[in-house]
Amino acid sequence: MTIQETIHSARKIVIKIGSNTLARADGTQNTEFMQNFARQCKALIDQGKQLVVVSSGAQVSGVSTLKEWARKKDVHFRQALCAIGQVELMAQWRKAFAEHGIHIGQLLFTKEDFENNHRSLNIRNTLFTLADEGVVPIINENDSVSTDEFAIGDNDNLSALTAILWSADLLILFSDIDGIFTDNPKTNKEAKLIEEVISIPELRKSITIGGTNAFGTGGIETKIQAAEKSTLYGIPMVLANGGKENILVNLADGTSKGTLFVAE
Ligand code: GLU
Repeated sequence: MTIQETIHSARKIVIKIGSNTLARADGTQNTEFMQNFARQCKALIDQGKQLVVVSSGAQVSGVSTLKEWARKKDVHFRQALCAIGQVELMAQWRKAFAEHGIHIGQLLFTKEDFENNHRSLNIRNTLFTLADEGVVPIINENDSVSTDEFAIGDNDNLSALTAILWSADLLILFSDIDGIFTDNPKTNKEAKLIEEVISIPELRKSITIGGTNAFGTGGIETKIQAAEKSTLYGIPMVLANGGKENILVNLADGTSKGTLFVAE
């Protein structure tokens, strides 16, 4: 299976967008990306697909709005920043999707929501209703409520949990890397893109997993964890570079590459 075929045969797709894709290099909100992304979503929706978006970027948007507190490590400031940023983030998403006549809905989760049967059933029902009615749900962790003991911690894992709960056909993670490489492509020119992963344990043995990047909380490790979760439930996962022009549409027509984690 290629990425193109996987997208073609998927009807319900969860797409996660990382903070590094949503923020420009100077840390401000990349509204241009959001507009382009909404346009590409519209193209897929017109083909009969249902989309759920998991969007990071609350903290980055908070810093970008307030222009202070960026260096405060205190948890209350971080949570306050996310409360401020989440509104800004959704305001931009609303604008971007409204251009195409698409409504969005916001859902904010903590780890407990997925651990409790009653809550997760409610989430599932809400996701089904929104998607069936043509609304694009936009999900983030409830960062102002989550401290360590409640936190899912990163949106890679959150998007995998969402894909499982919604019984998605495909999970796509957009990051600032083209996919999984044999080594760190920033330091090793010989590093090669791995286009298809069939066995994650084999992958773990064969690649070097580095640390996290500038704004995100994840790094490669949490992306692999997301793939482990989703493929276990029969949901393939694609990791690709969200920063590339028209990436969603290009993945769908086979002109852009990424890494496909094949579901068992
Ligand atoms: N929920 C965090 C935020 O919106 C980001 C988590 C992540 O990058 O994985 O700022």
